[in-house]
Amino acid sequence: MVQGTVNWNTQLDKKWLQEYVDDWVAFYQKATEEGEVASYIPILAEANPNHLGIAIHGKNGMRICSGDVNTTFTIQSISKVISFMVACMERGVSYVLDRVDVEPTGEAFNSIMHLEMKSLNKPFNPFVNAGALTVTSMLEGKTSKEKLAPLLKLLEKIIGYRPKINQAVFKSENDTSARNRAIGYYLVETGFLESDLEVTLETYFKQCSIEVTVDDLARIGLILANDGEDPDSDEEIIPRQIARITKALMLTCGMYDASGKFATYVGIPAKSGVSGGIVAVAPPRVRNAPFPFIEGCGIGVFGPALESRGNSIAGMKLLKHIASQWDLSIF
Ligand code: GLU
Repeated sequence: MVQGTVNWNTQLDKKWLQEYVDDWVAFYQKATEEGEVASYIPILAEANPNHLGIAIHGKNGMRICSGDVNTTFTIQSISKVISFMVACMERGVSYVLDRVDVEPTGEAFNSIMHLEMKSLNKPFNPFVNAGALTVTSMLEGKTSKEKLAPLLKLLEKIIGYRPKINQAVFKSENDTSARNRAIGYYLVETGFLESDLEVTLETYFKQCSIEVTVDDLARIGLILANDGEDPDSDEEIIPRQIARITKALMLTCGMYDASGKFATYVGIPAKSGVSGGIVAVAPPRVRNAPFPFIEGCGIGVFGPALESRGNSIAGMKLLKHIASQWDLSIF
Protein backbone atom coordinates (compact mmCIF):
# COMPACT_ATOMS: atom_id res chain seq x y z
CA MET A 1 0.00 0.00 0.00
CA VAL A 2 1.10 3.58 -0.64
CA GLN A 3 2.63 4.79 2.61
CA GLY A 4 3.39 8.26 3.95
CA THR A 5 1.79 11.61 3.38
CA VAL A 6 0.37 12.34 -0.03
CA ASN A 7 0.29 15.84 -1.46
CA TRP A 8 -3.38 15.81 -2.39
CA ASN A 9 -3.03 19.18 -4.05
CA THR A 10 -1.55 17.50 -7.09
CA GLN A 11 -3.67 14.35 -6.88
CA LEU A 12 -7.26 15.54 -6.92
CA ASP A 13 -8.04 14.15 -10.32
CA LYS A 14 -10.51 11.26 -10.31
CA LYS A 15 -8.11 8.77 -11.84
CA TRP A 16 -5.57 9.32 -9.08
CA LEU A 17 -8.18 9.08 -6.35
CA GLN A 18 -9.47 5.85 -7.88
CA GLU A 19 -6.00 4.34 -7.84
CA TYR A 20 -5.50 5.22 -4.19
CA VAL A 21 -8.87 3.83 -3.16
CA ASP A 22 -8.26 0.60 -5.12
CA ASP A 23 -4.94 0.26 -3.36
CA TRP A 24 -6.45 0.80 0.10
CA VAL A 25 -9.33 -1.61 -0.51
CA ALA A 26 -6.89 -4.31 -1.67
CA PHE A 27 -4.79 -3.71 1.45
CA TYR A 28 -7.65 -3.74 3.98
CA GLN A 29 -9.35 -6.67 2.32
CA LYS A 30 -6.85 -8.83 4.23
CA ALA A 31 -8.37 -7.57 7.49
CA THR A 32 -11.60 -9.40 6.66
CA GLU A 33 -9.78 -12.54 7.89
CA GLU A 34 -9.76 -11.11 11.42
CA GLY A 35 -13.54 -10.92 11.74
CA GLU A 36 -16.57 -13.18 11.65
CA VAL A 37 -19.91 -12.87 9.89
CA ALA A 38 -23.01 -12.49 12.10
CA SER A 39 -24.77 -15.78 12.70
CA TYR A 40 -27.46 -15.02 15.28
CA ILE A 41 -29.71 -14.34 12.28
CA PRO A 42 -28.92 -17.66 10.55
CA ILE A 43 -29.14 -16.46 6.94
CA LEU A 44 -26.55 -13.72 7.53
CA ALA A 45 -23.97 -16.47 8.15
CA GLU A 46 -24.17 -17.29 4.43
CA ALA A 47 -22.41 -14.03 3.50
CA ASN A 48 -18.90 -14.24 2.03
CA PRO A 49 -16.62 -13.05 4.88
CA ASN A 50 -13.95 -11.88 2.42
CA HIS A 51 -16.11 -9.33 0.67
CA LEU A 52 -15.12 -5.69 0.99
CA GLY A 53 -16.54 -2.84 -1.07
CA ILE A 54 -16.80 0.92 -0.86
CA ALA A 55 -18.58 3.75 -2.67
CA ILE A 56 -17.84 7.43 -2.10
CA HIS A 57 -20.27 10.00 -3.51
CA GLY A 58 -19.69 13.73 -3.64
CA LYS A 59 -21.11 16.82 -5.29
CA ASN A 60 -21.55 17.03 -9.08
CA GLY A 61 -21.95 13.28 -9.43
CA MET A 62 -18.39 12.61 -8.25
CA ARG A 63 -18.25 8.87 -7.46
CA ILE A 64 -15.35 6.63 -6.54
CA CYS A 65 -16.04 2.98 -5.83
CA SER A 66 -13.92 -0.08 -5.38
CA GLY A 67 -14.02 -3.74 -4.37
CA ASP A 68 -17.28 -5.68 -4.09
CA VAL A 69 -19.58 -2.87 -5.13
CA ASN A 70 -22.29 -4.89 -6.87
CA THR A 71 -23.14 -7.17 -3.96
CA THR A 72 -26.51 -6.43 -2.40
CA PHE A 73 -26.96 -6.89 1.33
CA THR A 74 -29.64 -6.10 3.88
CA ILE A 75 -29.51 -2.71 5.51
CA GLN A 76 -30.11 -4.07 9.06
CA SER A 77 -29.50 -1.45 11.76
CA ILE A 78 -28.76 1.29 9.25
CA SER A 79 -32.55 1.26 8.74
CA LYS A 80 -32.80 2.77 12.24
CA VAL A 81 -31.45 6.01 10.76
CA ILE A 82 -34.24 6.01 8.18
CA SER A 83 -37.05 5.06 10.58
CA PHE A 84 -35.89 7.70 13.07
CA MET A 85 -35.94 10.42 10.40
CA VAL A 86 -39.36 9.32 9.11
CA ALA A 87 -40.82 9.23 12.63
CA CYS A 88 -39.48 12.76 13.25
CA MET A 89 -40.94 13.94 9.94
CA GLU A 90 -44.32 12.38 10.74
CA ARG A 91 -44.60 13.13 14.45
CA GLY A 92 -42.23 16.01 15.07
CA VAL A 93 -38.83 15.89 16.75
CA SER A 94 -40.06 16.68 20.28
CA TYR A 95 -42.70 13.98 20.18
CA VAL A 96 -40.09 11.37 19.26
CA LEU A 97 -37.42 12.58 21.66
CA ASP A 98 -39.90 12.74 24.55
CA ARG A 99 -40.19 8.98 24.16
CA VAL A 100 -36.65 7.95 23.17
CA ASP A 101 -33.52 9.44 24.70
CA VAL A 102 -30.34 10.49 22.89
CA GLU A 103 -27.71 8.95 25.17
CA PRO A 104 -25.14 6.30 24.22
CA THR A 105 -25.42 3.12 26.27
CA GLY A 106 -21.93 1.62 26.09
CA GLU A 107 -23.77 -1.71 25.87
CA ALA A 108 -24.63 -4.05 23.01
CA PHE A 109 -27.38 -2.88 20.65
CA ASN A 110 -29.78 -5.59 21.84
CA SER A 111 -29.03 -5.27 25.54
CA ILE A 112 -31.98 -5.41 27.89
CA MET A 113 -30.02 -4.42 30.97
CA HIS A 114 -30.31 -0.65 30.76
CA LEU A 115 -34.05 -0.60 30.27
CA GLU A 116 -34.64 -1.20 33.95
CA MET A 117 -31.80 0.91 35.25
CA LYS A 118 -32.99 4.42 34.49
CA SER A 119 -35.86 5.93 36.44
CA LEU A 120 -37.89 6.86 33.36
CA ASN A 121 -37.28 3.51 31.64
CA LYS A 122 -37.13 5.52 28.44
CA PRO A 123 -35.04 3.67 25.82
CA PHE A 124 -31.55 5.17 25.66
CA ASN A 125 -31.42 6.10 21.99
CA PRO A 126 -33.08 5.30 18.64
CA PHE A 127 -30.19 3.08 17.49
CA VAL A 128 -30.33 0.42 20.23
CA ASN A 129 -33.07 -2.10 19.57
CA ALA A 130 -35.30 -0.90 22.43
CA GLY A 131 -35.24 2.63 21.01
CA ALA A 132 -35.58 1.44 17.43
CA LEU A 133 -38.65 -0.67 18.22
CA THR A 134 -40.18 2.30 20.04
CA VAL A 135 -39.49 4.53 17.02
CA THR A 136 -40.94 1.95 14.63
CA SER A 137 -44.06 1.75 16.81
CA MET A 138 -44.49 5.52 16.38
CA LEU A 139 -44.58 5.36 12.58
CA GLU A 140 -47.99 6.24 11.21
CA GLY A 141 -50.18 3.40 9.99
CA LYS A 142 -51.86 0.35 11.44
CA THR A 143 -50.21 -2.40 9.37
CA SER A 144 -46.54 -3.06 8.66
CA LYS A 145 -47.20 -2.25 5.00
CA GLU A 146 -48.58 1.18 5.92
CA LYS A 147 -45.72 1.86 8.32
CA LEU A 148 -43.04 0.80 5.85
CA ALA A 149 -44.41 2.79 2.90
CA PRO A 150 -42.91 6.18 3.89
CA LEU A 151 -39.56 4.54 4.69
CA LEU A 152 -39.41 3.00 1.24
CA LYS A 153 -40.57 6.27 -0.28
CA LEU A 154 -37.86 8.28 1.46
CA LEU A 155 -35.24 5.73 0.42
CA GLU A 156 -36.52 5.83 -3.16
CA LYS A 157 -36.16 9.60 -3.17
CA ILE A 158 -32.57 9.31 -1.95
CA ILE A 159 -31.30 6.35 -3.98
CA GLY A 160 -33.41 6.75 -7.10
CA TYR A 161 -35.26 3.43 -7.13
CA ARG A 162 -37.64 1.56 -4.83
CA PRO A 163 -35.62 -0.94 -2.76
CA LYS A 164 -36.78 -4.53 -2.21
CA ILE A 165 -37.38 -6.30 1.06
CA ASN A 166 -35.43 -9.56 1.21
CA GLN A 167 -38.13 -12.01 2.33
CA ALA A 168 -35.66 -14.78 3.20
CA VAL A 169 -33.78 -12.50 5.59
CA PHE A 170 -37.07 -11.27 7.07
CA LYS A 171 -38.14 -14.87 7.68
CA SER A 172 -34.79 -15.87 9.16
CA GLU A 173 -34.86 -12.95 11.59
CA ASN A 174 -38.52 -13.44 12.45
CA ASP A 175 -37.91 -17.14 13.17
CA THR A 176 -35.09 -16.38 15.60
CA SER A 177 -36.41 -13.25 17.23
CA ALA A 178 -36.62 -14.23 20.91
CA ARG A 179 -34.47 -11.36 22.15
CA ASN A 180 -36.22 -8.67 20.14
CA ARG A 181 -39.54 -10.10 21.31
CA ALA A 182 -38.32 -9.92 24.92
CA ILE A 183 -37.44 -6.25 24.41
CA GLY A 184 -40.82 -5.71 22.72
CA TYR A 185 -42.77 -7.24 25.60
CA TYR A 186 -40.85 -5.08 28.05
CA LEU A 187 -41.76 -2.00 26.01
CA VAL A 188 -45.42 -3.02 26.02
CA GLU A 189 -45.33 -3.43 29.78
CA THR A 190 -43.71 -0.03 30.33
CA GLY A 191 -46.11 1.70 27.94
CA PHE A 192 -43.55 2.83 25.37
CA LEU A 193 -44.83 0.83 22.44
CA GLU A 194 -47.44 2.81 20.51
CA SER A 195 -48.53 0.07 18.08
CA ASP A 196 -49.46 -3.53 18.38
CA LEU A 197 -46.35 -5.58 19.25
CA GLU A 198 -46.65 -8.01 16.31
CA VAL A 199 -47.08 -5.16 13.82
CA THR A 200 -44.10 -3.35 15.32
CA LEU A 201 -41.87 -6.43 15.17
CA GLU A 202 -42.92 -7.28 11.62
CA THR A 203 -42.25 -3.70 10.50
CA TYR A 204 -38.89 -3.65 12.28
CA PHE A 205 -37.71 -6.98 10.83
CA LYS A 206 -38.83 -5.90 7.37
CA GLN A 207 -37.12 -2.51 7.58
CA CYS A 208 -33.91 -4.37 8.57
CA SER A 209 -34.37 -6.66 5.53
CA ILE A 210 -34.34 -3.87 2.93
CA GLU A 211 -31.72 -4.65 0.30
CA VAL A 212 -29.10 -2.05 -0.56
CA THR A 213 -25.68 -1.62 -2.17
CA VAL A 214 -22.71 0.49 -1.09
CA ASP A 215 -23.79 3.13 -3.64
CA ASP A 216 -27.18 3.40 -1.93
CA LEU A 217 -25.51 3.90 1.46
CA ALA A 218 -23.18 6.52 -0.03
CA ARG A 219 -26.22 8.42 -1.36
CA ILE A 220 -27.81 8.40 2.09
CA GLY A 221 -24.52 9.66 3.52
CA LEU A 222 -24.24 12.40 0.91
CA ILE A 223 -27.71 13.79 1.64
CA LEU A 224 -26.96 13.81 5.37
CA ALA A 225 -23.55 15.41 4.74
CA ASN A 226 -25.43 18.22 3.03
CA ASP A 227 -27.84 18.69 5.97
CA GLY A 228 -30.69 16.91 4.23
CA GLU A 229 -30.44 18.55 0.80
CA ASP A 230 -29.40 16.97 -2.48
CA PRO A 231 -26.20 18.94 -3.20
CA ASP A 232 -26.78 18.88 -6.94
CA SER A 233 -30.48 19.79 -7.17
CA ASP A 234 -30.67 21.70 -3.83
CA GLU A 235 -33.92 19.85 -3.15
CA GLU A 236 -34.67 19.37 0.54
CA ILE A 237 -35.13 15.66 1.13
CA ILE A 238 -34.84 15.65 4.91
CA PRO A 239 -35.55 18.75 7.04
CA ARG A 240 -32.27 20.30 8.19
CA GLN A 241 -32.99 20.01 11.93
CA ILE A 242 -33.76 16.30 11.59
CA ALA A 243 -30.65 15.67 9.49
CA ARG A 244 -28.50 17.41 12.08
CA ILE A 245 -29.94 15.51 15.05
CA THR A 246 -29.54 12.27 13.12
CA LYS A 247 -25.86 13.01 12.49
CA ALA A 248 -25.30 13.79 16.18
CA LEU A 249 -26.87 10.45 17.07
CA MET A 250 -24.76 8.65 14.48
CA LEU A 251 -21.62 10.19 15.91
CA THR A 252 -22.48 9.32 19.53
CA CYS A 253 -24.38 6.04 19.11
CA GLY A 254 -23.98 4.82 15.52
CA MET A 255 -21.18 2.28 15.82
CA TYR A 256 -22.60 0.20 18.68
CA ASP A 257 -20.39 0.22 21.76
CA ALA A 258 -17.40 1.25 19.65
CA SER A 259 -19.02 4.65 18.92
CA GLY A 260 -16.65 6.56 21.21
CA LYS A 261 -13.61 5.01 19.60
CA PHE A 262 -14.93 5.64 16.09
CA ALA A 263 -15.69 9.28 16.92
CA THR A 264 -12.23 9.68 18.43
CA TYR A 265 -10.15 7.92 15.78
CA VAL A 266 -12.22 8.52 12.63
CA GLY A 267 -14.24 11.57 13.61
CA ILE A 268 -17.27 11.39 11.31
CA PRO A 269 -20.91 10.38 11.92
CA ALA A 270 -21.55 6.78 10.86
CA LYS A 271 -24.01 3.95 11.38
CA SER A 272 -23.30 0.29 10.93
CA GLY A 273 -25.41 -2.84 10.66
CA VAL A 274 -24.74 -6.50 11.45
CA SER A 275 -24.80 -7.52 7.80
CA GLY A 276 -21.53 -5.56 7.47
CA GLY A 277 -22.77 -2.27 5.99
CA ILE A 278 -21.62 1.12 7.21
CA VAL A 279 -22.92 4.51 6.11
CA ALA A 280 -20.53 7.35 6.89
CA VAL A 281 -21.09 11.08 6.55
CA ALA A 282 -18.29 13.55 5.83
CA PRO A 283 -19.75 17.07 5.93
CA PRO A 284 -18.15 19.88 3.92
CA ARG A 285 -14.98 21.11 5.62
CA VAL A 286 -14.68 24.82 6.25
CA ARG A 287 -10.91 24.78 6.03
CA ASN A 288 -9.71 25.63 2.57
CA ALA A 289 -7.24 22.79 2.17
CA PRO A 290 -6.46 20.72 -0.90
CA PHE A 291 -8.21 17.53 0.14
CA PRO A 292 -10.55 15.35 -1.90
CA PHE A 293 -14.29 15.83 -1.33
CA ILE A 294 -13.74 19.11 0.53
CA GLU A 295 -17.41 19.88 -0.21
CA GLY A 296 -18.50 16.78 1.67
CA CYS A 297 -19.27 13.21 0.74
CA GLY A 298 -21.23 10.15 1.71
CA ILE A 299 -19.46 6.83 2.06
CA GLY A 300 -21.01 3.37 1.89
CA VAL A 301 -18.99 0.35 2.95
CA PHE A 302 -19.79 -3.34 2.94
CA GLY A 303 -17.66 -6.00 4.63
CA PRO A 304 -19.62 -8.75 6.39
CA ALA A 305 -16.78 -9.98 8.62
CA LEU A 306 -17.44 -8.16 11.91
CA GLU A 307 -15.38 -7.26 14.97
CA SER A 308 -16.66 -8.18 18.43
CA ARG A 309 -19.05 -5.19 18.71
CA GLY A 310 -20.82 -5.91 15.41
CA ASN A 311 -19.07 -3.46 13.04
CA SER A 312 -17.42 -4.46 9.76
CA ILE A 313 -13.81 -5.04 10.79
CA ALA A 314 -12.20 -4.21 7.46
CA GLY A 315 -14.77 -1.46 6.82
CA MET A 316 -13.81 0.35 10.03
CA LYS A 317 -10.11 0.14 9.22
CA LEU A 318 -10.68 1.35 5.67
CA LEU A 319 -12.78 4.29 6.86
CA LYS A 320 -10.19 5.21 9.46
CA HIS A 321 -7.48 5.23 6.82
CA ILE A 322 -9.47 7.30 4.32
CA ALA A 323 -10.59 9.77 6.98
CA SER A 324 -7.02 10.36 8.05
CA GLN A 325 -5.64 10.58 4.50
CA TRP A 326 -8.34 12.97 3.34
CA ASP A 327 -8.74 14.90 6.60
CA LEU A 328 -12.45 14.05 6.81
CA SER A 329 -12.78 14.43 10.60
CA ILE A 330 -15.32 17.01 11.69
CA PHE A 331 -13.11 17.96 14.65
N1 GLU B 1 -32.16 -6.88 12.63
C1 GLU B 1 -31.08 -6.85 13.55
C2 GLU B 1 -31.56 -7.03 14.96
O1 GLU B 1 -32.42 -6.37 15.41
C3 GLU B 1 -30.35 -5.57 13.38
C4 GLU B 1 -29.14 -5.54 14.19
C5 GLU B 1 -28.09 -4.62 13.72
O2 GLU B 1 -27.82 -4.49 12.54
O3 GLU B 1 -27.49 -3.99 14.61
O4 GLU B 1 -31.07 -7.85 15.69
